[in-house]
Amino acid sequence: MNISSTPSFLNTLKKEECYGCMACVNACGTDSISITRDSEGFIYPAVDKNKCILCGKCAKVCPLVNEPPELQEGQEVYYAWSNNTQNRLDSSSGGIFSEIATTVLSNNGLVYGAAYANDMSVVHIKITTKEELPKIRGSKYIQSDISPTFKTIKADLKAGKLVYFTGTPCQVSAIKKFTNNPDNLITSDLVCHGVPSSKMFQDQLSLFDQKINNISFRDKKRTGWGYDLRLVSDNKTWRMEPLALPYFYGFWKNLTLRPSCYNCQFATINREGDITLADYWLVRKSHPSIKTGKGVSAIIVNTDKGCKIIEDLNNITVEKSSMVNLLKGLGRLKSPVKKPQSRDLIMLEYSQKGFSYIAKNYLMPPRQVILKEKALRGLKQLILFKYWK
Ligand SMILES: Cc1cc2nc3c(=O)[nH]c(=O)nc-3n(C[C@H](O)[C@H](O)[C@H](O)COP(=O)(O)OP(=O)(O)OC[C@H]3O[C@@H](n4cnc5c(N)ncnc54)[C@H](O)[C@@H]3O)c2cc1C
Repeated sequence: MNISSTPSFLNTLKKEECYGCMACVNACGTDSISITRDSEGFIYPAVDKNKCILCGKCAKVCPLVNEPPELQEGQEVYYAWSNNTQNRLDSSSGGIFSEIATTVLSNNGLVYGAAYANDMSVVHIKITTKEELPKIRGSKYIQSDISPTFKTIKADLKAGKLVYFTGTPCQVSAIKKFTNNPDNLITSDLVCHGVPSSKMFQDQLSLFDQKINNISFRDKKRTGWGYDLRLVSDNKTWRMEPLALPYFYGFWKNLTLRPSCYNCQFATINREGDITLADYWLVRKSHPSIKTGKGVSAIIVNTDKGCKIIEDLNNITVEKSSMVNLLKGLGRLKSPVKKPQSRDLIMLEYSQKGFSYIAKNYLMPPRQVILKEKALRGLKQLILFKYWK
């Protein structure tokens, strides 16, 4: 698609084409693009035609215009985990993100990742110390707003700082285009299922009778590596089946994702980041002797820069694997999720009648499903020690 030659392309951008990264807003030299939120809760750029001078800077940084990367020669696949048990347990898969971040911070570098804001929206922040790492550790299954980071990252890179940015592949693409990917920028993208909006997440949390201050979708305390919900308020901690939370059910069943997620050009083995991180769910099929209870990461090394970073990690267990094995359990390396037929109707009802309405009518699994989940969790608890090391 040769959109870059059409400077006014933002005006014709369809919703399913916009990833919501807001690189365009930050690139605009005339302040003519603002951020708007649609009735589904997703953010989009809006152009003020009176201010726009059709310079085309917005198109130059848009991930959509980016031809998806080509397959990197010599792409390598590994399974790995952090040797720091607490870090591994606090992370979604094997804690490799935290190990890379720790190495970067030890070299006076800066790390950018997704954190919960005070209002429980999700935004990318910069951290400069290891003490701040817990804020950005762990998967938040919500679209993170990276718009505040573009200019700061560019300034940090210009000042010669080593910068490590992690995010979804579309976000990594946007940051690389915005900064021209200099040598002192390291990126890792995540294999990504897709994201619902921060607004819907906040609507869900507002249904609790206490203010939720933190939430983990991947708590490992009850049954180890997998999905389990832990919600924390000032004086209470809830643990619940993820599917029993309507917000998570909508995410899991692909009912409430951003329109571009069903259309994602980054759901492929050709990756944007120097490194790709994922859950290596089926690792025991090809490597049956390893214990997986505390979580195992898949690492795809995509570039020479990525190779150097992994070589420099000295506190991880890492073994070579293969793309063929990895692909068996990771559909999102092959194609985006399919859009369910009911998705648009559900989102229309969300716009018109609110979250409680769709939660009650569309986002509650049948009772048997929850009971089955609970039974499976009980069984998993019984056999966990076998896979726990
Ligand atoms: C929205 C989303 C969907 C995902 N879908 C899949 C999938 O389908 N299959 C799969 O194998 N893995 C998926 N992952 C990746 C997986 O959950 C782990 O993040 C990954 O394996 C790295 O784990 P870790 O233990 O190394 O690090 P962790 O500490 O668990 O997290 C790694 C990084 O994720 C970043 N991050 C967290 N939430 C967000 C967010 N909302 N937006 C952008 N960046 C974020 C953090 O900044 C941190 O840098 C997804 C992650 C996210 C955020």
